[in-house]
Amino acid sequence: MQTLLGRTAVLILLLALPSLFIALVTAPRYGWGLFSIAILGVLAYHVHNLQQLRRWLKQPQWQTMPHGWGASWEEVFAALYQIMRSQWETRNELTEANDRLQQAAAAMPDGVIILDEYDRIEWCNVHAEQHLGLHREQDYGQSVAHLLRHPLFSQYLRTKDYGEPLSIRAPHNKEMSLSIQLVPFGQTRKLLISRDITKLEQVESMRRDFVANVSHEMRTPLTVVGGFLETMVEMENYDPQQSQHHLKLMLDQTQRMQRLVEDLLTLSRLEDNQNPLLEEYVDMPALMRRLVTEAESLSRGRHKILLEMDNTLCLKGNQHELMSACGNLISNAVRYTPEEGVITVRWIGGKDQSALFSVSDTGEGIAPEHIPRLTERFYRVDRGRSRETGGTGLGLAIVKHVLSRHQSHLQIQSTLGKGSTFAAEFPAGRVQLCREESAA
Ligand code: ADP
Repeated sequence: MQTLLGRTAVLILLLALPSLFIALVTAPRYGWGLFSIAILGVLAYHVHNLQQLRRWLKQPQWQTMPHGWGASWEEVFAALYQIMRSQWETRNELTEANDRLQQAAAAMPDGVIILDEYDRIEWCNVHAEQHLGLHREQDYGQSVAHLLRHPLFSQYLRTKDYGEPLSIRAPHNKEMSLSIQLVPFGQTRKLLISRDITKLEQVESMRRDFVANVSHEMRTPLTVVGGFLETMVEMENYDPQQSQHHLKLMLDQTQRMQRLVEDLLTLSRLEDNQNPLLEEYVDMPALMRRLVTEAESLSRGRHKILLEMDNTLCLKGNQHELMSACGNLISNAVRYTPEEGVITVRWIGGKDQSALFSVSDTGEGIAPEHIPRLTERFYRVDRGRSRETGGTGLGLAIVKHVLSRHQSHLQIQSTLGKGSTFAAEFPAGRVQLCREESAA
């Protein structure tokens, strides 16, 4: 501004003083007129630039900054331009940083809510909306305690002890379990972080059920064995014939526990992600023949067992696991089919060069409501029948895992009183031709 005043003074001196000189010395008649015109010119120059500045100030943006006319005003506008530009750049950087933070918070898989000092919602991400049933537009500025009306949450908010997260059901969806954690930050603000722990809780409940089931399965045989042993210890004149019978029953129960432990170990190996599938060339026709022989010995002539197969189809997979899965399905067919029933084992070509394994029986069949749950661990349609025939309730769970490790899945078709078919289709990528001829 000092420069501007200095320049103005110089301008006045340059324009007005010669006029004044002419006015006073040479031509006093015209001189005053000239002097006034010069002064007016200087004034008009400043008024024009001021006008430009005034107009610009109504909407001050660095892009529309006027250039100014005359060296002095040009300098003023240039200085203003520099200030505006650097302010704009700083504001832009801040906005970008803020946007980045909001985008990061929005992309978080957890729900995030920023609360002000009175626990009112300042900002929240999409997941928080979904978890807590919020609507951004209408809920900003609302107290979180009003929106999340849950006695445990109100207490959590009041106690100010936020060390541990709080587990509650989602207010608008009772199927969803949430973990809520408050994290104080800055002077007075808080972050509310919500996490969907429904799956975690399901796994935890499955773990609890599993331990309860295993304990239950073990308790019965242990009670039987323990009971007989107690009788043997307490009875002085124990009848050797009776003791032989009791020892046989104890052996049965011990074998049952052994089968259970073996199946449990197999399942845990199959479920272990660190245990990759060891692939080999599996001669499926040979494996089928072996399984059918085993089934015949289990059936002891009570059933008719048929084998239909394409002798040229082999498989890339794990022999031990495939034997366990196919064996389980065949032995189930024997165990759940009454005498005189027919069991048909098939190993044939499927669609698009795939291969199909199936076991059909003319047994008791399964009611439709049970079918979706059959591969759950320890799920049985008839617990007594399963136990009588030496079942552990884990067979189909093992089958499901083995098939999934071979990119296949179990298909079950059954009609109550007529029989069932358990089938699995193996993809073309796993099928290999092992022999030239095709023999059934
Ligand atoms: P289990 O050891 O009890 O046989 P599985 O997991 O092999 O356990 O089978 C689960 C249940 O499925 C069985 O208890 C039985 O009720 C039913 N099931 C399996 N296979 C057959 C079949 N071929 N016919 C009728 N029911 C079957």
